[in-house]
Amino acid sequence: MAVRLDPQLLEILACPCPEHAPLRAGTPEDAQADYLTCTACGRRFPVRDGIPVLLLDEAEQPPTAAAGPRGDGDPAVG
Ligand SMILES: [Zn+2]
Repeated sequence: MAVRLDPQLLEILACPCPEHAPLRAGTPEDAQADYLTCTACGRRFPVRDGIPVLLLDEAEQPPTAAAGPRGDGDPAVG
């Protein structure tokens, strides 16, 4: 079942990680998953009964990527 959250609610939600990055519904592997995925740290937060549990203790770490950090450059620098 896909996460069904109000887009406006999703907009104001932020990951509790230091980046406080926005969250996306589902996971990179399964957009229908009952999770919210942080766009910065990649943690997945379970959505229980339609309520996102934004606790680092409850978050699942993203699968360890084989590749190292990506050097895409930081638009904030320069
Ligand atoms: Zn995060």
